[in-house]
Amino acid sequence: MFVLKYVQMNKHIIVRVGEIFLKGKNKNFFESLLHRNIKSALNKIDCKIKRERNRFVVCDFADCDLSNILDKLGKVFGIHSFSVCHICDSNYESILKLSQTLIPLDKKTFRVNSNRSDKRFSLNSMELSRELGGDILKQHTHLSVDLHNPDFILFVDVGVEYSYVYQDKIFGMGGMPVGSAGHGLLLLSGGIDSPVAAVLAAKRGLSLSAIHFHSYPYTSEQAKQKVVDLAKIIAPYTGSFKLYVVSTTKLQEAFNKNCEASYSITLLRRAMMKLSEDLSVKIKAECLINGESLGQVASQTIQSISVTNSVVKNIPVIRPLICFDKSEIITLAKKFNTYEISILPFEDCCTVFLPSAPATRPKIEKVEKEEGRIKNYEELLKEALETVEIIEI
Ligand code: ATP
Ligand code: MG
Repeated sequence: MFVLKYVQMNKHIIVRVGEIFLKGKNKNFFESLLHRNIKSALNKIDCKIKRERNRFVVCDFADCDLSNILDKLGKVFGIHSFSVCHICDSNYESILKLSQTLIPLDKKTFRVNSNRSDKRFSLNSMELSRELGGDILKQHTHLSVDLHNPDFILFVDVGVEYSYVYQDKIFGMGGMPVGSAGHGLLLLSGGIDSPVAAVLAAKRGLSLSAIHFHSYPYTSEQAKQKVVDLAKIIAPYTGSFKLYVVSTTKLQEAFNKNCEASYSITLLRRAMMKLSEDLSVKIKAECLINGESLGQVASQTIQSISVTNSVVKNIPVIRPLICFDKSEIITLAKKFNTYEISILPFEDCCTVFLPSAPATRPKIEKVEKEEGRIKNYEELLKEALETVEIIEI
């Protein structure tokens, strides 16, 4: 038995590059990365991706996949904008015929914007816009031309193989292609901030690995699952990555037993940073990334950041949210779709053994003295990294 499937493939999507446009000699490197990232974002969809000068064209897809493709392109960094185009042969009659069918009946004023990739076309861009505008007006008498503030713009792009006619530019996320700025290790909690920090770091071209610390059995399986779920939500922005899950249970028990309670968070934070730098050496990450925001909580005063930062010796710590208000971070979390999961009420290792009054201005000498009370501190750090579980996101 034959099943006839009718799928239309009469649209192309032009994808324009963002800041890459400004790159000189390295432009090819950035464009190749973007090409790779677009391919991998669309890898489950049957389509072709062509690389052209300063842009890409997605074609040969079924109409029913269009919205899925647009959604995925909207999460690829390095894209300035994209447009769904109708295609026709590259001659004036075909362009006019197609344009006439695309005129919205509810708009009153318009302008034509033409661009010739094929310079052999008989009219130059100005002439084409003028001629096309005039011919459209003859058929659509409800319209008039407004060059400065039109209700809609008809874009015409004359190419060698085809010409494109379209109306809308959809803005992409901007930024730089993931992978173009190196590889960072993200400290990923189940909170609101760190998933947002991840997306912003990816926006500037960092590819990611992530580390999550848990304190099982004081923290639950669900708390860990929440972090895996968050990681899956940010993956369309960051690309697939490895999540390293590490236990700080023994370290926290040791802090709790031996050290002053008000310093427990500071000590845990230093241990996290130290373990993260140690892992970064093994996985060749070139920086750490966290979701700290100045003054948000006791462990994020400048004095606290200073004592936790000081254990990281060889790589920079990137803090994309350092000057963001919580409300600004929440707006981004909603935009990136992480908010609803982040607010699920599961405990984090930072919230178990929580002191009633954490030190807001910890002193480095005092912190080092507290760490000195734990005789096998270095051993515990080493053991913690040995607990690592690797999850592919
Ligand atoms: P978030 O900051 O993600 O909302 P939070 O508010 O619970 O989570 P903070 O106390 O603000 O966490 O922690 C500051 C930063 O420290 C986090 O953004 C994250 O980068 C890192 N961090 C905190 N807890 C963990 C954890 N359990 N595993 C990995 N990193 C963590
Ligand atoms: Mg926070």
